[in-house]
Amino acid sequence: MMYKSTRDITNQKFSSAEVIKKGLADDGGLFVPDEIPVLNSEDIKNLCRMTYSEKAAFVLSKFLTDYTYDELFSDCTEAYRAESFPGGPAPMVKLGESQYILELWHGPTAAFKDMALQIMPRLLSRALVKTGETRTALILVATSGDTGKAALEGYCDVAGTRITVFYPQDGVSRVQKLQMSSQNGANVNVCAVRGNFDDCQNGVKHLFSDPDMAAELDRRGYFFSSANSINWGRLAPQIVYYVSAYCDLITSGAVRDGEEINICVPTGNFGNILAAYIAKLMGLPLGKLICASNSNNVLTDFIRTGTYDRNRRFHVTMSPSMDILISSNLERLIYFIAGAGKTKEYMAELKKSGKYTVSDDIKKKITETFVGYFADEAATSSAIRGTHEKNHYLSDTHTAVALSCADIYRKDTGDNRIIITASTASPYKFAGDVYRSLTNRNPAGDLEALDELSALTGIAVPYPLAGIGNRKVRFNDSVEVSEMKDYVTEKL
Ligand SMILES: *Cc1c(COP(=O)(O)O)cnc(C)c1O
Repeated sequence: MMYKSTRDITNQKFSSAEVIKKGLADDGGLFVPDEIPVLNSEDIKNLCRMTYSEKAAFVLSKFLTDYTYDELFSDCTEAYRAESFPGGPAPMVKLGESQYILELWHGPTAAFKDMALQIMPRLLSRALVKTGETRTALILVATSGDTGKAALEGYCDVAGTRITVFYPQDGVSRVQKLQMSSQNGANVNVCAVRGNFDDCQNGVKHLFSDPDMAAELDRRGYFFSSANSINWGRLAPQIVYYVSAYCDLITSGAVRDGEEINICVPTGNFGNILAAYIAKLMGLPLGKLICASNSNNVLTDFIRTGTYDRNRRFHVTMSPSMDILISSNLERLIYFIAGAGKTKEYMAELKKSGKYTVSDDIKKKITETFVGYFADEAATSSAIRGTHEKNHYLSDTHTAVALSCADIYRKDTGDNRIIITASTASPYKFAGDVYRSLTNRNPAGDLEALDELSALTGIAVPYPLAGIGNRKVRFNDSVEVSEMKDYVTEKL
């Protein structure tokens, strides 16, 4: 199977190893497979008998055809081992009548980014060998908190890679800072930047596009690579857990073979929900995909009106991983529905004016599958409280946004098919806001909130966060934005 850019009308093709190594296409587009492999009902039946790693290797082998099955199986076995995912990689919890939760946060950083970032660095490491690359891939990450830690865990001691993470000195929580500054691994560096997240991100973007920097790295046997969520190597592994969830419903007798279910996803960059869409295109019996947003509801408006308009107020919410006004992976949906010509046109408009409007027939095709809802801060808190009281289930702030949206969808439409809501973080990752939502009181502090929430609910703090206050800090570096370049070269 070959890949092409979402904006390329000339049909230049790339192998999967090349697209994982490159990340973004030269024309600014995202890589997409040039055909969608099929899962028939026989495949699904077979998949139901497999372990998670076997399922993952099977699904990935349909997309990454220049990797052998044995390579993929070996990487998946390592990535999703029980020591990293003690509760299983993607367990399902029954919440209520026809309502399930797919928990994607049992990995080493207690958030769903682990599902992709535990496997993608291994795929990149092999991609270097497959493409004859002799240099080391230097991963640079600017993070507002969660992605940085997940990337550090994923790349830690992976052959052929080094990783440097920059975070805004006063822009991450105490827990997030401790998680990153205590990171293990011989190939990792973590550094605070004296500025906000935008400064940090702009600094990294500058380094990525600095020709002197590229030449210097090359001289020393390195090249820049990105752990960004637009990399196909991060997207493909996310298809697997939707297949796994459907299998779990078959195995427990909750659905009959071929019966359609709906999926609700708390959405930011549109990667997670796009993976569900690809699973549907492959033939997994999925009905509606409910795109759940917080107050930054640019996607809700897009799905409802056909106009994407990022020119709006930015809201800081308690679901920060969804505080996004440009959802990069939406470009792939536009491509699948409308093709490269239209994608190129709309993305140029987005760049120029911050908005675009799709044609009526494109909008119609999108809404055949997608519905958009959003939950503001009050609705999010109320979902955390309500789900805990009614279903004895403790959800994090991002998951709560989706639970609220799933509820409104059902009331609005009367569609009573099963809804699986993707749960993207452990409630302990956002313990302060979860505690406040349950009690209307402030915890003593960010760190103390972990124990206070545990005492309140009787639910144990998950292993990646337990005893975080006692971890040994390895990295105390901090630099000005103007010093980021020197920091990177010094650490090589
Ligand atoms: C990244 C993230 C999301 C958003 O996922 P996308 O794939 O960007 O839509 C939602 N919740 C949490 C906790 C996340 O870390």
